[in-house]
Amino acid sequence: MSTEKLFYKDINKTEFEAKILEVKEEEKGYQVVLDKTCFFPESGGQPADKGWINKIPVVDVQKESDRIYHYLAEDPGTGLVSGHIDMEWRRDYMQQHTGQHIISGALWKVGKYKTVSVHMGSDYTTIEIDSQRISPKNLEKVENLANQVINRNLPIELIVIDEQEIDRFDLRKPCQIHEEIHLVQIGDFDCVGCGGLHFASTGPVKFVKCVDTEKIRAHARLSWKIGERAFKDYREKDKIISELRHILGTREDSFVQKINTLNTEGIILKRKNNLLINRLADMIAQNLYQNQREQTRSGYGIITEFWNDEDDDLIKNISKNLLKRKNILICLVNIKKENIQWVIGCSQEVNFMFDEYKSDLMVQINGKGGGRHPLWQGIGQKPEKAAAFLSRFTDLVKNL
Ligand SMILES: [Zn+2]
Repeated sequence: MSTEKLFYKDINKTEFEAKILEVKEEEKGYQVVLDKTCFFPESGGQPADKGWINKIPVVDVQKESDRIYHYLAEDPGTGLVSGHIDMEWRRDYMQQHTGQHIISGALWKVGKYKTVSVHMGSDYTTIEIDSQRISPKNLEKVENLANQVINRNLPIELIVIDEQEIDRFDLRKPCQIHEEIHLVQIGDFDCVGCGGLHFASTGPVKFVKCVDTEKIRAHARLSWKIGERAFKDYREKDKIISELRHILGTREDSFVQKINTLNTEGIILKRKNNLLINRLADMIAQNLYQNQREQTRSGYGIITEFWNDEDDDLIKNISKNLLKRKNILICLVNIKKENIQWVIGCSQEVNFMFDEYKSDLMVQINGKGGGRHPLWQGIGQKPEKAAAFLSRFTDLVKNL
């Protein structure tokens, strides 16, 4: 037995009573067939309705030919049930869906852009067109036309016809032929085949705005904010602009100029900072090199040092600088709050095989890491063992 579709008769009907025809336990819940329903099944890019049957949440609604399957979290039993539609959810997706018809119609009217695919997500409705790009001027025309159509509050009619009658209608795109064809006609503006749910007129869509364009599979994909989502988006963006006005100390029409200035200043400061770090690293490396306290058996200098929470770039530069010099082995550590960062290295010509000493050293600080001649680095979990780590390194390499 087929299911009577109450949603096509009255889109505002939220409550209904129906008879259970069949209940089957399936993987995603109890599959329930009713003699009639207000629940719209997922189709044509529009998600399924949400709501409750006998106060049990309806998790999904699917259709197969003339039957509609409701998926429920629990068994609703037998006999008569009462259904209730989540109208907030329905209205949001009707706004998205009806809005998309209007936008696709406007895209066609402005530049003969065909709608290739539509996706109605929980944040955006995206429309992919058969063109690689759309100029900002044309996009503005599309937005203007779509919002004019909404403002004119044109009637939206659902027309049910059979195949023979199809030539009487000026369709924007060819539609799939079934026994019963559903056409959606928006005043004198647009007509396409569609089995989705729409408002009775364009006004309730309220407002549409394109917020992003990107290229995908050689097509332009436009992201839209439609209806309440557009107002919410405007409110959120306005909040961000207010915050930015406060942070940047300027009006929004000067934001770009101000940010460009800050970026340029940032680049100059970074360059200066790098220069100073290099100079400082040179001085510290020179100092460490001149004040070597220990030597290996074959006369290589052993340089060990630790810092507390020092700048990572500085340590990197110190080790780089030291390793340019001849006949040394180094072990440097930077003690951070939770861990310890270590660098071990040697001059190019020194035949030091870190792997031979690795486990002996790592056990001191519960460390890990690696690298290859002449530089190895990593972290350890016992910052309090920094001194023991350095002295173990000295003991081990002394015999070289
Ligand atoms: Zn539709």
